[in-house]
Amino acid sequence: MDSGTHLVFGLGLGGLALTDPVISSHPYGPVAVLIGTVLGSQAPDADTVLRFKSNADYIRNHRGLSHSLPALACWAALLTLILSLAFRTVPWTHLLLWILIAVLVHVATDLFNSYGTQAFRPFTRKWIAWNVIHIFDPAIFLSHLAAILLWATAGPSRGSSSLSCIRSWRCITDGERSFTAAWPRSCPGKTPIGGKATATRCCRRCR
Ligand SMILES: [Zn+2]
Repeated sequence: MDSGTHLVFGLGLGGLALTDPVISSHPYGPVAVLIGTVLGSQAPDADTVLRFKSNADYIRNHRGLSHSLPALACWAALLTLILSLAFRTVPWTHLLLWILIAVLVHVATDLFNSYGTQAFRPFTRKWIAWNVIHIFDPAIFLSHLAAILLWATAGPSRGSSSLSCIRSWRCITDGERSFTAAWPRSCPGKTPIGGKATATRCCRRCR
């Protein structure tokens, strides 16, 4: 599928992840998992960088190794590691699960296109193309976009608050503080965070 469709898949999965009580009950869970599903939904197409080498290399290898079975695990593990460092209190097993789903959905939907994908490598190097869905399918894209817009513009639900939190970059910038040992570890208990007034406000905003 095209990048836009993979993006709406990632956003949609970020919303679906709110049905996971471990994610939805954690102050930073919705933000962390949404970043994870969006990145996971794009990660296999990182082989686009081959364009910088040559167009021939890109055409020859795009959707090859980066969409293989070992790569699925690598993308999910890499993104989970990065997000676990940024959001240390979010249970990494749940992050891994949702990111892995996002990566799997990417490769699974690519299989339905005509382009060809080495999704079952290393068992076979055959390029698999079921050719039943166009690279861009308006019905798939617009239905996901409509659902995401409804989610984002709904009332004061957790989903909309997490989206507005992302829009303000508040939680993300607070997440970055974890690298400097300023992470609000007492945040999940809704208790005030000593000297970290901004982080406390962000937690409340995400709820
Ligand atoms: Zn792809």
